[in-house]
Amino acid sequence: MTAGSTAASAATGAGTAPGAGRTGGARREIDAILQRGADGGRISADEALLLYTDAPLHPLGEAADAVRRRRYPDNVVTYLIDRNINYTNVCVTACKFCAFYRAPKHREGWSHPTGEILRRCGEAVALGATQVMLQGGHHPEYGVEYYEDLFRAVKQAYPQLAIHSIGPSEILHMAKVSGASIEEAVLRIKAAGLDSIAGAGAEMLPDRPRRAIAPLKESGARWLEVMEVAHTHGLESTATMMMGTGETNAERIAHLRMIREVQDRTGGFRAFIPWTYQPENNHLKGRTQATGLEYLRMIAVARLFFHNVAHLQASWLTTGKDVGQLALHMGVDDLGSIMLEENVISSAGARHRSNLRELVWMIRSADRVPAQRDTLYRRLAVHHTPADDPDDSRIVSHFSSTALPGGGVGAGVPVAAPAGAATLPVLPAAPPE
Ligand code: SF4
Repeated sequence: MTAGSTAASAATGAGTAPGAGRTGGARREIDAILQRGADGGRISADEALLLYTDAPLHPLGEAADAVRRRRYPDNVVTYLIDRNINYTNVCVTACKFCAFYRAPKHREGWSHPTGEILRRCGEAVALGATQVMLQGGHHPEYGVEYYEDLFRAVKQAYPQLAIHSIGPSEILHMAKVSGASIEEAVLRIKAAGLDSIAGAGAEMLPDRPRRAIAPLKESGARWLEVMEVAHTHGLESTATMMMGTGETNAERIAHLRMIREVQDRTGGFRAFIPWTYQPENNHLKGRTQATGLEYLRMIAVARLFFHNVAHLQASWLTTGKDVGQLALHMGVDDLGSIMLEENVISSAGARHRSNLRELVWMIRSADRVPAQRDTLYRRLAVHHTPADDPDDSRIVSHFSSTALPGGGVGAGVPVAAPAGAATLPVLPAAPPE
């Protein structure tokens, strides 16, 4: 079987299970591609599809892990302490897979005042967070000015926090509300304090699956255009992929190809982060879902395909901690964040939670060296031996209930004083979970 014939068969439908079609005839070709990828060579999209559908799992994982070992010979796997803070759940875009948003005027819609967002930033700083991800819906009144004010306020109060936030969809929305160009919006929010753009909103970039799940969202080409403008102006980002809403194997690989084409020109994607669609409380109602095996195969293929993207992150939040740990053997060099707060994916059913001790244990028991990183993947603390492991039982994941006004990361957590303040602010105590 040739790569082309495999690609043709894989493209025929979403029901083709990856890994199910390998035959002896394709094995030599697969081995040659795996070797080239493991050596850091470039593989084509057709070859990536052949690996995704037909490569035996263990050689696939071994080749991907060889890439990780070559890139990070000290065996370090990183993690991050950050908090996702939602400023509003009001959104006009109504994506079918989203369980978080509420339409304008819906009685369950809310927007947090800046003071509440700063309080949550203060809690995050008190727990050692180095990053906040400010995320929200496409509020009909939030233009560039809203984001400028928000980012300036956060930077002024907590300059030590990196703002890795919003995504191309929010940038297009704010530009439209304010009558600004993409470039103007990017430059203004960067000047206001945005350090890095989140890879959010990529979902599936090819037209057919994207229209099926998010008909009112910008096209994948437009999503990439915003990223390219941002990269050109020195604002780097990550890139994500949401698997499991009925896309074909060929469309999954096309998503990777579209990102790599931009990366070839800009080099601005620091990391690729695939995750799996969560089925609860949304209009797709879980008719389809990606399996753990599909996810692991995608992780390995992504590591081989993205020879020009430095980091690959596993999503333990959506796939579970077991699959997240397995991903560490398939090329992953980053286990993402503790996520002191996360509400968007949790609203759709992601129930997995973790804490600092457990995340470090997951890395160490996979025979890797854990290290805390910052937004730019600079290592803040390498835990060379178990004696170096951090031990702060307050650093745990807190999910959906904290979307409510007044929510906090846990009882008894102080709020770090904003820059320039002589004393800790007097703010309501965080309620217990
Ligand atoms: S995914 Fe984002 S843009 Fe889509 S409905 Fe949800 S909040 Fe709105």
